[in-house]
Amino acid sequence: MKADHFEQQKLLALADEDVALTQLAHRQRTLPEVAAVEAAAEAERTFAEAEVRAETEVRDLDREQKRLEADVDTVRQRATRDQSRIDSGAATPKEITSLQSELQSLARRQSDLEDQVLELMERRETADAALADAQTGKASAVADRERAEQLRDDALADIADSTSRHQAKRDEVAAGLSAPLLALYDRIRTQTGTTGAAVLRARACQGCRIELNGRELAAVRNADPHEVVRCENCGRILVRTAESGL
Ligand SMILES: [Zn+2]
Repeated sequence: MKADHFEQQKLLALADEDVALTQLAHRQRTLPEVAAVEAAAEAERTFAEAEVRAETEVRDLDREQKRLEADVDTVRQRATRDQSRIDSGAATPKEITSLQSELQSLARRQSDLEDQVLELMERRETADAALADAQTGKASAVADRERAEQLRDDALADIADSTSRHQAKRDEVAAGLSAPLLALYDRIRTQTGTTGAAVLRARACQGCRIELNGRELAAVRNADPHEVVRCENCGRILVRTAESGL
């Protein structure tokens, strides 16, 4: 293929924009701010799960405590009724003996229930503390995540801004190229993943950094200035300048 020597020089400006666009796309894919958001969201989920567990524990303990308190009430009422019967003077000696025995057993039962209530209150304190810890941790993780999201959004906006500037510049350069040369450049660019042309500087292709051997150099040297020559190693169009070392 032949293309005006001056037009070939414009490929370098196009390649510069493609390098910038490739770097921006890579930066977007590997943004540390994205990983930071994921880490913060993971911490938030962990605290939220701990919060749900602690809330469930507190609810269960509350229910258990109400049940125990109802039992204590029942025992107290029974004891009060027994005592009133004894105090009334209407009970027979045999009945009194039986009531006194029941009162003793009710007192043991009440003491036992009260011990259980105390134990429950201790467990409730522990559960309350765990709940408070989970809530504090979650609030702090939410703030971390929101901050990380803001940083990520700022970085993405910055990348989007640079990308549109470089894309506009690339479109401008591409508009000044003939369709066949641009098509060839774009085909090579798809293959290399970055650029379709590189400058030949000091006898080396600056696309793949490989120095041309004697035969390759002679071929480039003898080629018509308007001939489109390519790097045999990476396939890029080699743009010749005064620095090419030919
Ligand atoms: Zn090369």
